[in-house]
Amino acid sequence: MPYDFTSKIAVITGGSRGIGLAVAMQLSSYGARVCINYNSSKERAEKAVEEIIQAGGDAIAVQADVSDPEQAKRLIKQAEDELGPVDFLVNNAGVFDVAAHDAFGEQMWHHMMKINVDGVFYCTWAVKDGMVARKYGRIVNIASIAGLEAKPYAIAYATSKAAVVGFTRSLGQALAAENVRVNAVAPGLIDTEILEGFDPTQKQHLIEITPSKRIGQAEEVAHMVSFLLSDESDFTVGQTMVLSGGRVNLP
Ligand code: NAP
Repeated sequence: MPYDFTSKIAVITGGSRGIGLAVAMQLSSYGARVCINYNSSKERAEKAVEEIIQAGGDAIAVQADVSDPEQAKRLIKQAEDELGPVDFLVNNAGVFDVAAHDAFGEQMWHHMMKINVDGVFYCTWAVKDGMVARKYGRIVNIASIAGLEAKPYAIAYATSKAAVVGFTRSLGQALAAENVRVNAVAPGLIDTEILEGFDPTQKQHLIEITPSKRIGQAEEVAHMVSFLLSDESDFTVGQTMVLSGGRVNLP
């Protein structure tokens, strides 16, 4: 086991599939007790819980729409009531849409902001005071390379992920002295259902402009999340770690 997360309690938002599921499975394999949040995919979340329990781990699934502040509070309360005080929060739940500037309006804008930005804020605010009081907490936000560079075909998404990067940077500094570390991961193209919105030519083009010439895997994102949750990254604060096969290079 590269990390020992025995006795740690982790909440993963949007943990029913894709990157969130890979994170939940990995944290569980390192000993954490996990709360898998989902919005609509109940069956998949429950299947993941079953798998974890069969493998000797401990997990629960909790339905909550993270874009609703009351549901976000209920999610954290249920995790704490059933598992214990939350040590790790992975703000992963997110939505993506491809739309040119003349193909979207207020509705899509607010939908994106409510889940990708407000959801991160609500879940974080529901755990952070407890973490500060206990003088221990680790929060990892899943941003995107779209938050670091221009995405003219995904303006709302890119804006929402840039907000996550900014939130991580400022909150990371605000809470570091309390031993609550906040960091983010900015993946490039990762092989999940979120890519169903891409047409094959577009996907191929994105692979071609990636120096590694491939799409990333959800497990690779999970490895970076585990590192950021571990004590090995103790001096890493407010950072956004890029995983893009070399597509994006920060100065
Ligand atoms: P995905 O396969 O579409 O999974 C999205 C997850 O978010 C699902 O578990 C979904 O749950 C959950 N979710 C959506 N809206 C929610 C809400 N309102 N409340 C609670 N949960 C909600 O996506 P993914 O590719 O794994 O992406 C995960 C994160 O990584 C997102 O934040 C995404 O922006 C980011 N990311 C992905 C890529 C990529 O290429 N895949 C690249 C960069 C960043 P339900 O199924 O129950 O709705």
